Amino acid sequence: MTDQYLMTNPVTQYTSEDFPEQQQDGPGLDADLAVKADHGEKSYRGSGRLTGRRALVTGADSGIGRAVAIAFAREGADVVLSYLPEEQIDADEVAALVREAGRKAVLAPGDIADETFARSLIATAVRELGGLDLMANVAGRQQFVEDLADLTSESFDKTFRTNVSALFWVIQEALPHLPPGASIINTSSIQAYSPSPILVDYASTKAAINTMSKSLAQQLAPRGIRVNVVAPGPIWTPLQTAGGQPPEALKEFGQQTPLGRAGQPAELASAYVYLASQESSYVTGETLNVNGGMPTP
Ligand code: NAD
Ligand code: MG
Repeated sequence: MTDQYLMTNPVTQYTSEDFPEQQQDGPGLDADLAVKADHGEKSYRGSGRLTGRRALVTGADSGIGRAVAIAFAREGADVVLSYLPEEQIDADEVAALVREAGRKAVLAPGDIADETFARSLIATAVRELGGLDLMANVAGRQQFVEDLADLTSESFDKTFRTNVSALFWVIQEALPHLPPGASIINTSSIQAYSPSPILVDYASTKAAINTMSKSLAQQLAPRGIRVNVVAPGPIWTPLQTAGGQPPEALKEFGQQTPLGRAGQPAELASAYVYLASQESSYVTGETLNVNGGMPTP
């Protein structure tokens, strides 16, 4: 835990020690992470940068999405929390933190790889929050497969539906409701430019997200709706422990970055807040890399 306003050496701000080997099933739970992640629970201080905004955050139960939900709430936004039903225990903790910040938390469990459910998130936001101003699309699926021969069509398809098709569904559904000044933030990855050999499907979806966002940003600019992307590097979250990486690769996770350590979800929150707030009014179609210093195109 660190204070986001205190000058600190970023190299030593968080652990650069080896992580213990661990493996989770399903989407993975923050509750079961062997080394706890920092989502800014104890440190993030808001300053009214999103006062009165109505936000949808997908993948809001854990990892980066949890950090974003906490930060959005502390900046003054009400939040619909999207996550998978298996993650209820994590989502309940986030909802409690949003409410502690004095904001509304709406729990919306379900599978965004299902078109009907994904689209229904927008009706939920409009009904429960009275409209929609911000979308932080953070949910993602990452399952490593060593050999292309073992990558099933079903798994390939699920990765694309979760990471790419769901974005199309929720954004298309949201457009009639988004006012000028609204902001859409999608989540890409360093994998879009430096793909791992064992993440063929995942890495491809992240490149697609960057390109989709740049295309959409131009289309929506005249309507006053901005579209941007955050591209994280190696961040300590359940995604990585639940099939995102081979368990043995987790040990040195993030140590290859110039800063020499994995990032924490808390270090991503202010990137989303910046892109959500009016402070980034002249920024659209941009990808903000938060990756420990790895060069990007
Ligand atoms: P995470 O596991 O904490 O979050 C991912 C979330 O996606 C899950 O909590 C789950 O709620 C949601 N999700 C997955 N499939 C879903 C489905 N079918 N329906 C509904 N929700 C679903 O992990 P994270 O690392 O915080 O991931 C957040 C985003 O960051 C993802 O898009 C991921 O690709 C991206 N990312 C992560 C890293 C990293 O190193 N952790 C690096 C680059 C990009
Ligand atoms: Mg989760």
